[in-house]
Order: sequence, then structure tokens, then C-alpha cells
Amino acid sequence: MKVHHLDLFTMCPVGRRFVNGAGSALARGHLVAHALLIETPSDGLVLVDTGVGEADLRDPSGRLGGAFAWFTGAAKGPTRTALAQVRALGFDPRDVRHIVCTHLDLDHAGGLGDFPWATVHVHHRERSTAEGRATLPERERYRPVHFAHGPKWQTFGASGEPWFGFEAARDLKGLPPEILAVPLDGHSRGHACVAVNTRGRWLLHAGDAIFHRSVVEREAPAMPPGLRVFERLVAFDRAKVGANHRRLAALAEAHGEAVTVFAAHDPVQFERMKAQADAQLR
Ligand SMILES: [Zn+2]
Repeated sequence: MKVHHLDLFTMCPVGRRFVNGAGSALARGHLVAHALLIETPSDGLVLVDTGVGEADLRDPSGRLGGAFAWFTGAAKGPTRTALAQVRALGFDPRDVRHIVCTHLDLDHAGGLGDFPWATVHVHHRERSTAEGRATLPERERYRPVHFAHGPKWQTFGASGEPWFGFEAARDLKGLPPEILAVPLDGHSRGHACVAVNTRGRWLLHAGDAIFHRSVVEREAPAMPPGLRVFERLVAFDRAKVGANHRRLAALAEAHGEAVTVFAAHDPVQFERMKAQADAQLR
């Protein structure tokens, strides 16, 4: 299976020094939204996460909320959608038959409406939380406009053999066995990582279970303080976030040869993995 790495949405939160670890505190920082587009042999194209959607870019503060639009600079770009990037790669968006969401936060699920025909795989607890929006933070992070088109939900829970000691959701309906979900709540109630086997290795899209490569890469510089604060601020369960870090660090340490663990928003990991994949695709 071929895997393309998409930077769907260049998030530019304020304070470069605090989110990137260097540079001016006044300059805008740089975070990516790292998504995958997978070419499967018989199940069409599969997207892992969707960034924000076309309609979000036309009306960032209306659809994403004023705070998010300001904090990330969503309106200022350069911003990209999954739909535009699928087309830019020469594919027909209709061939995106499945979307697997790590979770349904606005910066991961905003593009669902651009692929209304696709089956959307998500943890059942994430779907019910996003639809219930029971708390104030949940009303901020989950936007009803992103689900107004009535996604073709296909929910999962843990099922089948564990994966490197983690609970796993295998047999995602309609997807090949090389794609599975690894439920890991903490950032949100139904957050899951997504594992993809390509060229004999696993890529683990850790979503927002980690915000910075230093969690899984020993030689990386320490996590910038602003990012650490942000991660704690938006977490549903901070204790679980810490425990998840330790488990993913142990996975990377013990199985680094077989598994590459990456964060949705780390620009350094994105650039490195995209360059590697592009070299292989050539
Ligand atoms: Zn996120």
C-alpha cells in the first residue's frame, strides 16, 4: 500500500518560541496537521484524519469559533484542505471511500463534509461525545457544522488481538488488515491512534496522544513549554495523557525497528516522513 503524507492545515499558533522551542515569542509558531492518504489494493483511497474543510476556510471564525481561528491563524493561511490535496495528487475525491479519524476535534474532522460519500470510522465513545457536547470544552472542540451532512459512521471499540501490547480495533469494516485502530483515550474520551502497515513497517499515527516528537524520540529537543501547557489545557484526562506518553515511549524504545510513532501536529516529523515517503514513491 502506498502512503502519502498530507499537511492539511498549517496551524500557526501565536508564540513561535513557546510552540517550536526557538525563535521570537512574537512571531507566529508553526504546527502542521499531518494526515495520511493511503492507496489500498481493493478498498479505494483511505484518509486518516481530515484537517479542516473547504467551508471552514471560507468562514473560519463562524465555523471553527473565534478563539480557535485567532489562536491558530486559520484565516491567514497558508491553509490546505484534504479535498484540494487529494485533487492535487491527481486522484478523484470520489475514490476516497473511507476516513479513519483519530478523534473528532475540529482540526481533525473539519474536512468530513468534503467527502460525504465516505464511510467514517471512529471510536464509538468519540462519536457519542462529539454528538452529545455535554461540557463547555466539548462544545468548543466539537463543531456540529462538521457533522451536519450526516456522516456514514462506522464506529469501533477494541476488538481482536492486541497490537504490540495495546488494545486494538481490528477488522475495521471495509478496510484491509493493514489498517487498524489503537484506542488510546486521554486527549479526548474516544481518541484512537491509527496503525498502518506499509512496506513491512508500521506507521502509528498517534493523533493528539502526543504533541511533540520528544515523547518518542530520545535525541529530540525537549517539548517546548507552550505546547506542553496547551496539551494539558485541552486534555480530557491529564493523568491518562501522561500514562499514554509513557506507553508510547516504551513502544518506540522497544520496537523502533518495526514501528514509527508520530504526532499529528509535529512539523519536524512531518517533513522527515514526507521526504522519506516521497523518495520511496519515486
Ligand atoms: Zn489536533
